[in-house]
Amino acid sequence: MPVFEKVAGGEVLLRGIGERVSVGDRVDVDGAFAGYLSERGDFERVDDAGEDITADEVESLADDVIAERIDAGECPWCDEYEGENVGQHASSAHPDAWDDYKGE
Ligand SMILES: [Zn+2]
Repeated sequence: MPVFEKVAGGEVLLRGIGERVSVGDRVDVDGAFAGYLSERGDFERVDDAGEDITADEVESLADDVIAERIDAGECPWCDEYEGENVGQHASSAHPDAWDDYKGE
């Protein structure tokens, strides 16, 4: 479910979920209520839907997934490179990830 954090204004009672929240509080809400919260303007969605993958997730990319993308000429670790020199790009732009991949 979407998670929202209150980012502005004072304490409010969110009648939809029966919770009092103030700045810094997070609430877990369903889709309909998420729409309401994003319209309010004093809440921001903070769950990681659509965000870039984190370093931990990068490390957990399976080798076969990496190999597949490299074969396809796509950098497995970012969207910035596509082409036949993907190995060169990856080894200079993502040395740690590349070393892990090559070392296994
Ligand atoms: Zn890259």
